[in-house]
Amino acid sequence: MGSLSLKNIRKSFGNVEVIKGIDLDVKDGELVIFVGPSGCGKSTLLRIIAGLETESTGSIEIDGDPVNGQSPSMRGISMVFQTYALYPHLTVKDNMSLGLKQAKRPKELIEKRVGFASSMLSLDDYLDRRPAELSGGQRQRVAIGRAIVRQPKLFLFDEPLSNLDAALRVNTRLEIASLHRQLSATMVYVTHDQTEAMTLADRIVVLNNGVIEQVGTPMELYNEPKNKFVAGFIGSPQ
Ligand code: ADP
Ligand code: MG
Repeated sequence: MGSLSLKNIRKSFGNVEVIKGIDLDVKDGELVIFVGPSGCGKSTLLRIIAGLETESTGSIEIDGDPVNGQSPSMRGISMVFQTYALYPHLTVKDNMSLGLKQAKRPKELIEKRVGFASSMLSLDDYLDRRPAELSGGQRQRVAIGRAIVRQPKLFLFDEPLSNLDAALRVNTRLEIASLHRQLSATMVYVTHDQTEAMTLADRIVVLNNGVIEQVGTPMELYNEPKNKFVAGFIGSPQ
C-alpha cells in the first residue's frame, strides 16, 4: 500500500547541485533511514518526496502512482519535523484533527482516529492542553499523532528526536519503532545519529554529498561497508 520509488532524482539550488541522481525503492511496510553528515541533502530529499520541494529531474512513485507535480496533501504523506510545527493556539486534540477537519471528514471518524492515536501515544489526559503546556516529548508525540490520524500511505520523519533530551530520545525512538510494527507503516526517516539508524532501520541509506554511498540492512553496512566513508559513519572498526 505504501511503497516508494525514486528514479534519478536530482535537485539544484541556483547552479549548485545538491541531490545528484538518487535511485531508491522502499517496500511497503519498510522503515528506511537516510543517514549522512550535515548538509549532504537528507532534508532536501525528504522534502522532494513530500512535495514541499520540486525536484529538478527524476520521477517519484508512491504506491505505484507517479506523484510528480502533486501537492503534499494529494500524495497521502504525513511528515513529522524536528521542530514539531504545532499550532500554539490550538489544543492537542485540535492540532491532531485539523487536517481531517480541513478535508471535511465526518466528525465521528475524526473522534475515532484521534482517540486511537492519543491512546497509542499516551496522550489521552492531554487532549485539552495547548502545546506550551506540554513537555518536548509530549509535543513531538502530538506531531506524531497528527501524522497517524491522516492514515497516510507513507510517514516521513526529519530528525524527529533532535530536540529531545537523551532519556526522551530513547523513549520516543521506541515509540516510533512500536508504531512501525503496529501500523505496518512505511516510513522514511532522516537522522545524522548512527545509533538511531542502527536500532530502528530495516535498511539504511548512507548519503554523502548528494549521492548514495551504500544501501543495506544495519548488519550489512556494519559488517561489509563498501568504503571508508560508510565504515566511518556506521562505526565499524576497520
Ligand atoms: P541535510 O538535511 O543533510 O543537513 P539539506 O538537505 O538541508 O542537508 O541541505 C543540502 C544542501 O542544500 C546544503 O548545502 C544546503 O545549504 C542546501 N540547501 C538546502 N535548502 C536550500 C535552499 N532552499 N536554497 C539553497 N540551498 C539550499
Ligand atoms: Mg536536515
